Amino acid sequence: MTSQLINGVELSNQLRQDLQTRVKALTAAGHTPGLAVILVGENPASQVYVRNKVKACEQVGIHSVLEKTPDTLTEKDLLVKIDALNQDPSIHGILVQLPLPAHIDAQRVIEAISPEKDVDGFHISSAGALMTGAKGFWPCTPFGCMKMLESIHYDLKGKHAVVIGRSNIVGKPMAMMLLQKNATVTLCHSHTKNLAELTRQADLIVAAVGVRNVLTKDMVKPGAVVLDVGMNRDEDGKLCGDVDFDGVRQVAAFITPVPGGVGPMTITMLLHNTVWAAEQLNPTVERALQST
Ligand code: NAP
Repeated sequence: MTSQLINGVELSNQLRQDLQTRVKALTAAGHTPGLAVILVGENPASQVYVRNKVKACEQVGIHSVLEKTPDTLTEKDLLVKIDALNQDPSIHGILVQLPLPAHIDAQRVIEAISPEKDVDGFHISSAGALMTGAKGFWPCTPFGCMKMLESIHYDLKGKHAVVIGRSNIVGKPMAMMLLQKNATVTLCHSHTKNLAELTRQADLIVAAVGVRNVLTKDMVKPGAVVLDVGMNRDEDGKLCGDVDFDGVRQVAAFITPVPGGVGPMTITMLLHNTVWAAEQLNPTVERALQST
């Protein structure tokens, strides 16, 4: 068997077209969605990420503001900036690019963002909403994975999903989203014993570890669906995921590539969350769009 690819670039383009329509409707009503991105310091990877986020905003018509600050910025000054953005009616989403320099408490900064503008979905109130099944922002990467499953009409009811990695931004929210769709979820981490035994029982595997080849062909049941969240570099410096792609694609029914898989979906769901935030404040625009 050779897997079918779930192409994150194509799916992103489709979803971004729909977002463009929603942005146009909001803009026509005088409520252009706005995203503020704060970058502290000069981490090269972070600079690329924020540049891509701002570019994606432009593509769909979202107003974006990029605030670049030196890594000497104090936590207090960062909190002042966030407070100003919380009050700014032209801004519907606030994103502080992580990681932050060691002298800044990232959790305190995230909690300072107004929950109504928490488009990354990292605020404790967003986490609580996801946990209880209430309306709220879903973290972009696992949300993107859910959209990928939707795109292949994958019915999660009663399926066994194994998530490898339990971070607050990927693994844990991923497990919650899958649970909400009635999958039976096993959440694995670095202390999990017999990982291969668990993954071999899985109908769906999500790898979100940050370790190359953590999932190999012998660990995957034929016909399983495999989503690769990992972003690593191979010995030639090329971007690769957590999954041994060439091996696993011989047994999985569907697989996401790296690059071109989950990565572009993460940015698309950030755009989605920003548009959704603006719509929450302008429900008449949202309703008018639904009735067209
Ligand atoms: P993280 O915070 O470092 O979490 C990694 C998780 O993997 C931890 O829960 C850790 O377990 C677990 N783990 C480590 N080694 C393991 C092993 N050998 N077997 C099983 N579990 C193991 O990372 P993250 O932020 O969730 O990101 C994970 C990966 O996804 C990274 O490569 C990151 O770059 C990538 N990522 C990609 C996107 C995207 O848009 N594509 C977005 C976010 C992240 P413990 O909890 O026990 O330490």
